[in-house]
Amino acid sequence: MNKLLVVGTVAFDSIETPFGKTGKILGGSGTFVGLAANQFNIETGIVSVVGGDFPQDYLDLMNTKGINTDGIEVVKKGKTFFWSGKYHNDMNTRDTLVTELNVLADFEPVVPDSFKDASIVMLGNLHPLTQASVLDQMNQRPKLVVLDTMNFWMDSALNDLHNVLKRVDVITINDEEARQLSGEYALVNAAKKIHEMGPKYVVIKKGEHGALLFNEEKMFYAPALPLASVFDPTGAGDTFAGGFCGYLTQSEDISFKNMKSAIIYGSCLASFCVEKFGTQRMEQIEQEEIKNRLQAFKELTQFDIELT
Ligand code: AMP
Repeated sequence: MNKLLVVGTVAFDSIETPFGKTGKILGGSGTFVGLAANQFNIETGIVSVVGGDFPQDYLDLMNTKGINTDGIEVVKKGKTFFWSGKYHNDMNTRDTLVTELNVLADFEPVVPDSFKDASIVMLGNLHPLTQASVLDQMNQRPKLVVLDTMNFWMDSALNDLHNVLKRVDVITINDEEARQLSGEYALVNAAKKIHEMGPKYVVIKKGEHGALLFNEEKMFYAPALPLASVFDPTGAGDTFAGGFCGYLTQSEDISFKNMKSAIIYGSCLASFCVEKFGTQRMEQIEQEEIKNRLQAFKELTQFDIELT
């Protein structure tokens, strides 16, 4: 089976949306990427760190889902990364209330031997030096390196981010962060600038307005599926990235054409993620539901037009 290596946070989240508020629940960029990627017929391994306060049940849950957690270090005396956010009424924007790095502050990732030959590496949202360290440990250059990041790391570790970007093939980033990283307002120009920083492919996520893929002069747009109920968008971006990488890992085809399908898979899985708080919906997904939703995507976007 083809292997996908994911590095990202495994975290406690506390979320407030117009529909309610949670206590500390399972979250983290690595968790969401892993839960999405494991929908494909691949081996997914996560490299991360948690504290002694992290319930064994959560690790068991990942193992039950077929996710390899050998690369998740448990620092018995430490506390798990904690993030808290509050969504505005439009559900597309949020304020970060708390980011406690805790065990993440001194984290030195160790890639398990069994994943050093992974064909695709997803550098999930995490300190850019941690992302770079994972790449350094691979036996050979992976077929594809995908990176996700956020404003937090642009504000605190911009130079390190620029360094790791030179080693990356695909970046997935949201629209506001693309503007911050590039200093350009128009997303076409932002993508061009980011392209010059290293990644040949730039994926810009626009929340409920879908995602754009840029590669040199080529461009592709996939909408997000309009949903009757968006309950909690947390993790949608990571779920998108997990679906994107999972599909590419399974299909072993990293052409622009296949990346278009990967974007549709990513959007499809993200549409489930937002339906319940935290990881709840991603834990319950059935293959039949994914198939039906892909069909809905097809019907949403396909049209015939006669050009005279
Ligand atoms: P998303 O909604 O896709 O941006 O991802 C939300 C997830 O990212 C939450 O589960 C958080 O635990 C995690 N997260 C929040 N801030 C950070 C950060 N600075 N670095 C890594 N992960 C983070």
